Amino acid sequence: MEKKGRIIIHTGNGKGKTTAALGTVFRALGHGQKVCMIQFIKGQGKYGERLFAETIDNLDWYICGKGFVFNKEQIDEDKEVAEEGFALAADRIASDCYDLVVLDELTYLPNLDFLPIEKIVETLKAKPQRLSIIITGRDAPTEFVELADTVSEIVVVKHAFQQGIKAQKGVEF
Ligand code: ATP
Ligand code: MG
Repeated sequence: MEKKGRIIIHTGNGKGKTTAALGTVFRALGHGQKVCMIQFIKGQGKYGERLFAETIDNLDWYICGKGFVFNKEQIDEDKEVAEEGFALAADRIASDCYDLVVLDELTYLPNLDFLPIEKIVETLKAKPQRLSIIITGRDAPTEFVELADTVSEIVVVKHAFQQGIKAQKGVEF
C-alpha cells in the first residue's frame, strides 16, 4: 500500500516551529527521502540552516519573501511575492517529486490577507497521497487545523529576547 502522507502544523508564539520542521527534514533525509523547503515572508539573511541546505542532495530550498513587512505602502508588493511564492509551492506539491514539503511561515499568507484561505486549503487537499506537508507559523487558521492530522502549539514559557538578549547566530538564525 502506498504511504499516506500527513499534514502537520507547528503553531503558537513559542520558539521552535521552524526548527522542529527542520528536525523532521533531517529525519526524512536520513531515510533517503526527497524534501522541499519553501520559506514565505523571510529575508535573504544568512540563516545557518540555509547555508547547510546548499550542501545537501535531496533537499530543494526556496525563499519567497523579503522579510516581514507591516507597512501599508508595500502591501501590494508583498501580496505579489506571496502569490508567486504560493504558485511555486502549489507546483512543487503537485509535482509528486517529494516525500516531505515544508511551508515555513505559511500562516502569514492568509492571516495578512495575501491569499484566500480557500485557495490554500484546496491545494493542500489535492496533494499527492504519499506527500507529507508541514506548515509553520503563528496563529494557524482554523481551516488549517481542521484539515491537519497533527497540530502542535508551542507556548512561550519564557524567551531570552524578553530579557534583552538579541538573536544569536546558530540559535536563532
Ligand atoms: P525557530 O526558527 O527558532 O524554530 P520559530 O519558527 O518558532 O523559531 P518564528 O515566529 O518563525 O519562530 O520566529 C522568527 C525568529 O524569532 C526566529 O529567529 C526565532 O528563533 C525567534 N523567536 C521565536 N519565538 C520567539 C519569541 N517568543 N520571542 C522572541 N523571538 C522568538
Ligand atoms: Mg519560524
